Order: sequence, then structure tokens, then C-alpha cells
Amino acid sequence: MNNFNWDGTFSVDFSFQDGMSKTAEITQRHLSQMKAMYQDQAAVEEILKTGDPVIYEFYELGCPEREGDLAFGTTMIHPGKIGNEYYMTKGHFHNIVNTSEVYYTMQGKGFMLMENMEGDWMAEPLEKGKAVYVPRGYAHRTINTGDETLIAFFTFAADAGHDYGTIETKGYRNVILEKDGKPVIEPNPKWK
Ligand code: MN
Repeated sequence: MNNFNWDGTFSVDFSFQDGMSKTAEITQRHLSQMKAMYQDQAAVEEILKTGDPVIYEFYELGCPEREGDLAFGTTMIHPGKIGNEYYMTKGHFHNIVNTSEVYYTMQGKGFMLMENMEGDWMAEPLEKGKAVYVPRGYAHRTINTGDETLIAFFTFAADAGHDYGTIETKGYRNVILEKDGKPVIEPNPKWK
């Protein structure tokens, strides 16, 4: 799908009133597609007995993967937890690892959890009306710690590509869990 002239100009309505879902490519990630990433496997299995919830979805605009273009769209992480671990995205590096990304939070709250190949990591709050810069070299995962859908606008170099495999294999060094009603960051016992 490519509804847009990427050599010209165009505008996109991100108010979600109408149009967006007709013009965007929508990808949904269900629990079953990322179940190994969660800490509490008993909770995963219990939930999957009765359904397979959509954890998050993202809307892309079909930007060609050309050097010099900027891909952009929105991501929506639904509210919820698996055990005491908040709903989150899979997280990824870019194939061209030294490419950055910007996320602007339009609704909800949470964290951007980032780590690089050298073991440095950062967690930056996501708050409505604020933009977070994800620097080059850092894997990035979005976590919804609120009780409404977390919606963020993103943009990155269109030719950057996505490497999900590194995170799927190694996991993240840290996890964000709810304890006493508040998010806490802890080392990931499953990290390899
Ligand atoms: Mn990215």
C-alpha cells in the first residue's frame, strides 16, 4: 500500500476521527506473538486459555525504505499487565544500528526503555505532550504504565530497518513491573 507521494507533500490526520485507519498499514501484536518476553509464564498461559489480547498496534504509512526519507506513524500500547509486568512492545534495534528515532506522546504515560550493545541502558518517561529522543545505537521498547491506551507518534530514517531478533534472543537487561501500585525498574532474571 502506498497512498502517499513521498516525492511530494501531503498531510495526514492523526486525530483518529476518521481516515487514519483507511490510509495506514496496521500491524497488531498479540500476546501469543511475544509471550516468551514476559516474566510470568503461568500468567501468560492463564490469559491465553480464554483469548489472545492485542498488546499493541502500530500504524505505518508505507514510506519507501529509501535513504533520506523519514518514515512516521503512530504506535498504540494498550493498558494491561501480564502478572505484574506492564504491556509493552517487543522492542528492537535498527538494522542500521546508528540511526535514531523520535517519539512524541499524544496520550497516556509510560516509559521508553533503551539499551545499547555495550550494556548501557536508560529509561525515559513518556508523558503526554513530550517528545523523547532515542539516540543512535540503542534498542527501544515502549511500556504502558497507565490505565489508558498509550499513543505516540514516531519518526525514523526510512532505510533503518528493524532487528527484532537480538531482543527476542537476549531479552532486555531490565524489566518494568508494578509494585505497590507503582512502576519499578528491576534487572531481568531471564536476560542472557
Ligand atoms: Mn525504531
